[in-house]
Amino acid sequence: MASNGRVATGFWGELGMLTRSVSRAMGVTFRNLFRRPVTVMYPDTPRPYPDRFRGVLALVYEKDTGQEACIGCRLCEYICPPQVIKVEMLKAEKRNFAKTFTLELYACEFCELCVQVCPTDAIIMLKTFDVATSDRRELLFDKDRLHALGCAFPASWATGNKLRDMQAPPKAARAEGKEGKE
Ligand code: SF4
Ligand code: SF4
Repeated sequence: MASNGRVATGFWGELGMLTRSVSRAMGVTFRNLFRRPVTVMYPDTPRPYPDRFRGVLALVYEKDTGQEACIGCRLCEYICPPQVIKVEMLKAEKRNFAKTFTLELYACEFCELCVQVCPTDAIIMLKTFDVATSDRRELLFDKDRLHALGCAFPASWATGNKLRDMQAPPKAARAEGKEGKE
């Protein structure tokens, strides 16, 4: 198409159109030839993830005691939309534990609801998705494998307590609400 809106005809018209098209395409090629590549050679070069990256789920140990942080309360099991978590509680003298804890990661929606409701910050999301496999059975995680994941990869920013604090009204508003009731 010529600049006046008419279709170029004849040999010279078509040659001019072809030359302009090739020049435009080569211009784009040369502009990008010396730019830094945006791809990385994964997995040899790890990519840094943002703090709120929501990757694979894991269980963690308490930092001060080294005990399993999960108290087997089953809140994560109840909240999970696709019902991929199953927990059995083990009652003990001072606190409870999870006797069994299984998570079918292949059906997880990564909605983070289980993390949000956990009262002890026992279940978290990690800054990784490095558990890809061609065998779905390997994505059925038991308690030991979930703890091993928690030790092997960095945690994402969010924990249940941090997320609930964010949802709570600011302290000033809470105090005003209390005064209003009195
Ligand atoms: S992230 Fe959502 S779907 Fe996945 S286990 Fe937790 S609650 Fe269930
Ligand atoms: S991971 Fe948290 S919410 Fe789930 S059973 Fe354990 S303590 Fe309860």
